[in-house]
Amino acid sequence: MKPNFVQKVTNWGNFPVVEKNFKSEESLQNIQNFVRSNNEVIARGNGRCYGDASLGENIFSTSRLNKFVSFDRLNGIIECEAGVLLSEILEVIVPQGYFLHVTPGTKFVTVGGAIASDVHGKNHHAEGCFSEYVIDFKIMDRKGEVLTCSREENAGLFWATIGGMGLTGIILSARIKLKNIESVWIRQESIKAENLDEIFQLFEDSESWTYNVAWIDCLQKGKNIGRSILMRGEHALKAELPEKLRKNPLKIRKQFSPTVPFYFPGFVLNALTVRIFNWLYFNKQRKKEIHNFVDYNTFFYPLDFVNDWNKIYGKQGFIQYQMVIPKEKGKEGMKKILETIANSGNGSFLAVLKLFGKNNPEAYNSFPMEGYTLALDFKVNKKLRKLVSQLDSIVEEYGGRIYLTKDSMSKSSLTNYLKNTDDSKFVSLQHKRILNNA
Ligand SMILES: Cc1cc2nc3c(=O)[nH]c(=O)nc-3n(C[C@H](O)[C@H](O)[C@H](O)COP(=O)(O)OP(=O)(O)OC[C@H]3O[C@@H](n4cnc5c(N)ncnc54)[C@H](O)[C@@H]3O)c2cc1C
Repeated sequence: MKPNFVQKVTNWGNFPVVEKNFKSEESLQNIQNFVRSNNEVIARGNGRCYGDASLGENIFSTSRLNKFVSFDRLNGIIECEAGVLLSEILEVIVPQGYFLHVTPGTKFVTVGGAIASDVHGKNHHAEGCFSEYVIDFKIMDRKGEVLTCSREENAGLFWATIGGMGLTGIILSARIKLKNIESVWIRQESIKAENLDEIFQLFEDSESWTYNVAWIDCLQKGKNIGRSILMRGEHALKAELPEKLRKNPLKIRKQFSPTVPFYFPGFVLNALTVRIFNWLYFNKQRKKEIHNFVDYNTFFYPLDFVNDWNKIYGKQGFIQYQMVIPKEKGKEGMKKILETIANSGNGSFLAVLKLFGKNNPEAYNSFPMEGYTLALDFKVNKKLRKLVSQLDSIVEEYGGRIYLTKDSMSKSSLTNYLKNTDDSKFVSLQHKRILNNA
């Protein structure tokens, strides 16, 4: 086997940056050798988690596990290796009239990463997490053995791996159920909300919609706290489409994607620029309510249009903080969180609010619980740890939890769902950090 290769690695938030052994292999035997001859191994997909979840002493990159195994067009089931990106799956399935039941806000994540974080989309209240549609997967365990896991076979390992953050082994491939669609279009309604009361009411009123998400201006205070825009949507049926969109309704629309060419200097993103961005975003929609058709890339993946957008935060990087607060205390908890952020002056360029439905108790490592979830981006600076610790305390007070796949600096007590995953073979820097903090 070739020697391990030490290299600089970081994930989407560019924080932390580490120099670690990094290996990518495609043959089963070489992966086995890597697992058997190293301790503290962790799988890395496409590094779209923000922090240190897929960083470790010995990182196994699944970038070469990138092949499709089969596509059952009749029953809508796809089988592929774990390093295949959701974007690659969509390219294959959309023209055939299929879509993923659950997709996160970027399509540049791998199947292995989607299972290990048990990702959710804008439809958790209606369709649950990614795992609901995983039929089975193959995983390499600590001994280098390959096991097939499903609800019936090796069910203990199946459920520990769902949301298990890579701590149970290396997922090698998976079979996933798909949903039927008639077009690439989403019937969308965008509705402005002036404050938290309005946006919470809108979420309640929109529960019958499959997809709901709100952008929220987290720098507003007082009576405007919670100023936001709710986007709700449904896959458009062919018969619903206006005449001009009816031709080739399953043809994927290609759009030009600019690239951020370099890291922005640290001063570019500050409370003032975030405030200006938020004002422009809220006011770009003049009417209270807009109804239109947008293609699925615009609806599900607006951030993917700009390649390397993470560079706008500068070289020091950024974190994403995502938490969920149980529904009955959701409004009160969110108000406190938004007040704390507004008072800290640490504006979040991007803040996204969603309503989760009931969780699947079998998927005990999964992040979602019934309630409101807010995801916020913060540039790394000296004041940030204090803010994160304040936010952690509020989440704890309201019985919520944080999303490990976004985390890079939170408290251990908020991550109590990392159960049955303590395997000294598979260890991430995040896991070590959390255990050491305990
Ligand atoms: C712009 C953006 C929007 C996002 N929106 C959402 C969202 O709406 N909902 C949501 O849930 N998430 C969201 N995410 C987070 C993202 O979906 C998850 O972090 C996802 O797990 C990243 O997958 P990845 O392939 O990049 O894996 P990585 O980031 O490399 O790894 C993530 C975790 O998966 C484990 N892992 C990866 N591959 C394997 C494997 N083969 N076997 C075992 N473990 C593995 C890693 O060890 C790590 O713990 C978003 C991220 C970005 C950048």
